[in-house]
Amino acid sequence: MYFVKTPFWLKKIFRSYTWDVKTANKELYLTFDDGPHPVATPFVLRQLAAFNAKGSFFCLGKNVLEYPAIYQDIIGRGHTVGNHTHNHLNGWKTSHDVYVDNVDQASAHIVSGFFRPPYGRIGNKAGKSLKKKGFEIVMWDVLSGDFDRELSPENCQKNVIEKAGNGSIIVFHDSEKAFPNLKYVLPNVLEHFSAAGFVFKGLSNN
Ligand SMILES: [Zn+2]
Repeated sequence: MYFVKTPFWLKKIFRSYTWDVKTANKELYLTFDDGPHPVATPFVLRQLAAFNAKGSFFCLGKNVLEYPAIYQDIIGRGHTVGNHTHNHLNGWKTSHDVYVDNVDQASAHIVSGFFRPPYGRIGNKAGKSLKKKGFEIVMWDVLSGDFDRELSPENCQKNVIEKAGNGSIIVFHDSEKAFPNLKYVLPNVLEHFSAAGFVFKGLSNN
């Protein structure tokens, strides 16, 4: 069970986290979690380039270690990177100290002031610790559901096209599991919103 569109009350309860970008402009913030991946990430980079789009990649430290050239390619192309822990830890099942250590471990390989908790799950105390370290904690406005093997590519695409609007932060995954949906949905989403006059931007610190 998950929300495709994050409800306003959830954003309100956890207002110290970033859920969307406040703007009246036609801007979308595509984000890609769990990479770098040897097939999915280069695919995403090619698609973004074809539409002159920028995105944000919330990387796992362990994957950056395994695929450093792909990580460098993300940066070289002007996209934003973020920290997504070293080992994709679940913040509701991990002690504060172990969690924060794992983020630090990823920080050794990922230079970024952005952090996204895996599964969107983070304890309050860990959230405070990471903010104290200077991280902006980025959640999302629209969850594509690309990771959901029960969701067809067509419905995954519908999730994004129906729910995204000005300033939406949208979650995709450059991962093995999500690739069957991603490879269908991403080009269509880029095409649909480009035709509607949107631009795709990477997250930036204010
Ligand atoms: Zn993740």
